[in-house]
Amino acid sequence: MRNVGIIGGGIGGVAAAAALHRLGIRATVYERAPRLEEVGAGMMLWPNATRVLRELGLLERVARNSGRNTHFLVRASSGKVLMNIALGEFDVPALCTRRSDLLAALLSALPPERIRLGREFSRLEQSKSKVQVHFADGCVEEHDAVIAADGIRSRVRAQLFGISEPIYRGYTVWRGVASYDGTAIRRGDNSETWGHGSRFGILDIGQGRYTWYATANVPQRAAGKDDQLGELRRRFGGWHEPIPALIEATESILENGAYDLPPLPRWTVGRVTLLGDAAHPCTPNLGQGGCMALEDALVLAKCVARESSMESALRRYERLRRRRTGHIQQRSLLMGHIGQWQNRAAVSGRRVVTSFLPAALFEHNLRRVYSYET
Ligand SMILES: Cc1cc2nc3c(=O)[nH]c(=O)nc-3n(C[C@H](O)[C@H](O)[C@H](O)COP(=O)(O)OP(=O)(O)OC[C@H]3O[C@@H](n4cnc5c(N)ncnc54)[C@H](O)[C@@H]3O)c2cc1C
Repeated sequence: MRNVGIIGGGIGGVAAAAALHRLGIRATVYERAPRLEEVGAGMMLWPNATRVLRELGLLERVARNSGRNTHFLVRASSGKVLMNIALGEFDVPALCTRRSDLLAALLSALPPERIRLGREFSRLEQSKSKVQVHFADGCVEEHDAVIAADGIRSRVRAQLFGISEPIYRGYTVWRGVASYDGTAIRRGDNSETWGHGSRFGILDIGQGRYTWYATANVPQRAAGKDDQLGELRRRFGGWHEPIPALIEATESILENGAYDLPPLPRWTVGRVTLLGDAAHPCTPNLGQGGCMALEDALVLAKCVARESSMESALRRYERLRRRRTGHIQQRSLLMGHIGQWQNRAAVSGRRVVTSFLPAALFEHNLRRVYSYET
């Protein structure tokens, strides 16, 4: 039986293990943390991702605890709707879910012994037929192939290609979850409100709960060190409802800078490849980073199941995935750049253009991203 080692137990690593396991391939996840957990509120699962969950047999379970999203509104800080984009009818829904629920669903598709916790990757060596993985505690494991799903600061990527530090894109992102039962949001609507050098997004995760994110142009800094609530009140307190109410109702706020890397020229060396944020770190502007990791997982598993050698399977996976993920990285970077405009004239121009552009144009573009099938 083929035997794959996966470094990193985030959404990408666990999804890859679940997809491989479903196709009868033995996969072991090595995670450095003492337990598996996803922090960071909720996340969008666009139809391209819920299609992957359907194929893994997990869609119903995830959908049960998620919000079902039908429209995306772009608003001015006064609340005026500049554009209302219908997400469209697909064979699968667009959902917004808690990260912890998604991870729990993926884990339910794996035998527990396939996860090894407290195992921090330190380096690997390849021979003609095997990969030896060395861990910080001195243990060594041997696999037919290794998938690096160790995130945006991937140590495996650093060893293979010498690229470790992602690039800061000039703004920070706060996130939280809050309950809200007022009338300022219609069920199923998601929205992003644009200001000067800042944005506030609201995503419906179901049962009267909303995950929100807020951005602001700031120099690179140690995220989450300052008085986050005070800063959010100062920046967004005068914005339209329910923004101030959501901020006040949030228990725990998480902050991350917006980082990414330009598309990498290669992901694979012999029997080792990259997956998820390790392969294509992306700014969060399209809500597609985790969705891409899910797509990667399924494509990779199918390649391993179909190809006769591990090397050719990994090469095929890379060939199938690099173009699409590179395109999304670049589009996300551009959306963030435009969304973070601060200059008054640029913001007014953006507002006018957005109110006059037909929403159908955006719907058409989104459809191209969401229609993807693995
Ligand atoms: C503000 C924000 C909002 C976002 N919103 C969305 C959204 O709405 N929809 C969406 O699809 N995506 C979203 N994303 C992107 C999404 O969070 C990521 O793309 C996704 O989590 C990547 O998963 P991953 O498994 O590749 O990496 P990670 O989730 O980073 O997991 C990597 C894992 O590897 C482990 N690890 C690291 N180094 C080692 C080591 N040396 N040894 C062993 N283990 C190691 C880590 O502990 C971690 O568990 C958002 C991101 C941000 C920052």
